[in-house]
Amino acid sequence: MRPVKPPPFSYHRPESVAEALDVLADAGADGKVLAGGQSLLPLLSMRLAAPHRLVDVNRLADLAYVRSGPDGVRVGALARHAAVLRDDAAAAVQPLLRQALQLVAHPTIRNRGTSVGSLAHADPSGELTAVLALSGGTVTLASTSGRRDVPAAEFFVGPLESAIRPGELAVEAFFPAVPARTGTAFVEVSRRHGDYAVAGVAAAVTLAEDGTVTGARAAYLTMGPVPSAVDLGDVARAAGLRRPDADEPAAWRDAAAHAVSGLEPDDDIHATAAYRAELARVLTARALAEATRNAEGGHR
Ligand SMILES: Cc1cc2nc3c(=O)[nH]c(=O)nc-3n(C[C@H](O)[C@H](O)[C@H](O)COP(=O)(O)OP(=O)(O)OC[C@H]3O[C@@H](n4cnc5c(N)ncnc54)[C@H](O)[C@@H]3O)c2cc1C
Repeated sequence: MRPVKPPPFSYHRPESVAEALDVLADAGADGKVLAGGQSLLPLLSMRLAAPHRLVDVNRLADLAYVRSGPDGVRVGALARHAAVLRDDAAAAVQPLLRQALQLVAHPTIRNRGTSVGSLAHADPSGELTAVLALSGGTVTLASTSGRRDVPAAEFFVGPLESAIRPGELAVEAFFPAVPARTGTAFVEVSRRHGDYAVAGVAAAVTLAEDGTVTGARAAYLTMGPVPSAVDLGDVARAAGLRRPDADEPAAWRDAAAHAVSGLEPDDDIHATAAYRAELARVLTARALAEATRNAEGGHR
């Protein structure tokens, strides 16, 4: 690959959200937000992106928050992956955040990369995209015209393409709390720890008082153009799954096959589509079994 430098751009470093929105409105389609830079700077250096105006949001300290409440976790645009990963309250309210973030890249990248930036980047291999899809979260987008909340199902439009319009800044991501008696798990396979996953799955399982499975969901990364979430509650209920059997991957074999049958993974240099589908099937069963164990393990 030919080493190159970024194409010329003008650089803005607003001191407030209002100023950032003004600059973004003025820049329109020529503008690009710079957050942690962990994905954008490589794209610029390889000249795969060539915005005329970069709007660096790193001075917007008001957006560097992680707030947890009974309804869920709100992550501001300047919260770094590392801050979200460390946050005990966030992990208690929505355990998938910590389960996923410990698999994202390496500490140096997590110290700089932002969780909202990772959603805005909309890489279907990004762990947090699957967490947002599984939890049914939203992303709040702000512009000089106002704010709008975009649900996960509408936020991811295609690979590296989100619903963010020119002039908009993603100011917050909201991850709803896991329901009561619900366990979660995040399982993936990557060639080396910290690499993007060959395939991965986030899972959530809800149990009744008597241990019967009443709800089950899975969401995938690297298994299609956008992170898809699959509801497996009907399959699990029809099979009459309940603990302790449901703690074993074998109990989830049919549900996993059903979940993966609707996915459309691609071939790439790391794996064929067929290998990826088989891997996802095995990981789904493992993740659902682990989520079942966690459901009564005190997550909620
Ligand atoms: C070696 C390496 C390994 C990595 N491995 C993983 C991994 O395993 N899993 C994973 O998920 N990620 C991985 N990443 C990516 C990392 O998580 C990034 O931090 C993240 O994808 C982007 O966050 P950022 O803050 O760095 O965004 P930036 O790089 O600054 O921006 C990325 C894109 O999002 C847009 N953007 C960012 N913030 C906003 C906002 N608030 N509003 C509107 N648009 C915005 C930018 O304009 C740009 O288009 C890796 C990165 C590297 C360099």
